[in-house]
Amino acid sequence: MRKMRRKGLASMAVQTVATTSESTVDLGPATALSCRECGHRVPLGPVFACEECFGPLEIAYDFSAYDTEELRRRIEAGPANIWRYAPLLPVPADVAGKPNINPGWTKLVKADNLARELGVTGGLYVKDDSGNPTHSFKDRVVAQALEAARAFGFTTLSCSSTGNLAGAVGAAAARAGFRSCVFIPHDLEQGKIVMAAVYGGELVGIEGNYDDVNRFCSELIGDPAGEGWGFVNVNLRPYYAEGSKTLAYEICEQLGWRLPDQIVVPIASGSQLTKIDKGLQELIKLGLVEDRPYKIFGAQAEGCSPVSTAFKAGHDVVRPQKPNTIAKSLAIGNPADGPYVLDIARRTGGAVEDVTDEQVVDAIKLLARTEGIFAETAGGVTVGVTRKLLEAGVLDPAKTTVVLNTGDGLKTLDAVAGTGLTATIRPTLDSFREAGLA
Ligand SMILES: *Cc1c(COP(=O)(O)O)cnc(C)c1O
Ligand SMILES: [Zn+2]
Repeated sequence: MRKMRRKGLASMAVQTVATTSESTVDLGPATALSCRECGHRVPLGPVFACEECFGPLEIAYDFSAYDTEELRRRIEAGPANIWRYAPLLPVPADVAGKPNINPGWTKLVKADNLARELGVTGGLYVKDDSGNPTHSFKDRVVAQALEAARAFGFTTLSCSSTGNLAGAVGAAAARAGFRSCVFIPHDLEQGKIVMAAVYGGELVGIEGNYDDVNRFCSELIGDPAGEGWGFVNVNLRPYYAEGSKTLAYEICEQLGWRLPDQIVVPIASGSQLTKIDKGLQELIKLGLVEDRPYKIFGAQAEGCSPVSTAFKAGHDVVRPQKPNTIAKSLAIGNPADGPYVLDIARRTGGAVEDVTDEQVVDAIKLLARTEGIFAETAGGVTVGVTRKLLEAGVLDPAKTTVVLNTGDGLKTLDAVAGTGLTATIRPTLDSFREAGLA
């Protein structure tokens, strides 16, 4: 069954392996790439699919030399960005000195007003990743992919993007002196297009949706035109994906080296959710947090809900959908990590749920009104799903709960376009009184 899910990767994997020259690279504690399906191992390189079964490859590590207390001290003494976790990431030890956009260590906001409104008593937190350099969580994964690109000798960075990734790649490439050429659906929000274009790289709009863009990039990788390109979410995907672990590390460290009981995570490809789980598992194994149960909840928009549809139907295969939602950053109709998300939600006792576009807008306004955080539509999805799951009794209000906001509302202004002036008045007190504002 798993093999059938992966059929589409077959030709891409073979092409990529054929053009890869093996080199010895220093990626710190990373030792190999390991297949998530069959465990087959290959040396670290710009490959992403298993040559035996076409399953996705992920980074394997050797953490055996670490002493828990020494590691904790080293992390706490590290920089206020993702590189404080360099000992747990596929990067060289001296990564903090290299030109990178150094994302991470974003605020974990104790959301007491929102908690009151939603009836949460066990502690509600918003992990606000809009505080990253290009205002989305994507800076974490790109920072990671950039180091891999450097190690493998790529000079051009590329990606297929639902918007935020394009901006993150453009900024990281500019800072590190790479060329960038990124691909997006042509009809994205203006805020996302400008944010991606301003860094001076090439930005190409594709006539189609994200899944079309992604297919195009897979073809480009196998073509001489794409030779020597590091596609952060294709041939560098195993490295890229590890960047999401830092969300799990930060949340636990910011809670005082404690696991949250419940985490609500948005799903586009599902990569972020699976790596948050991997990060939590690593902290448990390393003894940095107490081994207690935690539940991971996935959030989608109804107009692109292939994973929540499969979850609710009890399926373990995800059927692709054609996206139609204002949550464009999450609009991946054929999510690569969908089956793994289902496994994790079920294993941890979590769930996957979706909300309508109207509920997304309401949730954006709710978060803004209660906590002063202006989320993009993806944040409206997680807050909306949190509210829905609390009302359904699926999320436990007495437990410590962390909700992710992964992007900035300034990039998706259209979603709340109805919001505006309370009144327009002449610059006189009379006019002010007439408007009923005194
Ligand atoms: C890309 C993105 C996500 C999730 O991405 P995955 O592909 O599931 O890892 C979540 N929120 C925002 C704002 C994004 O841009
Ligand atoms: Zn395999």
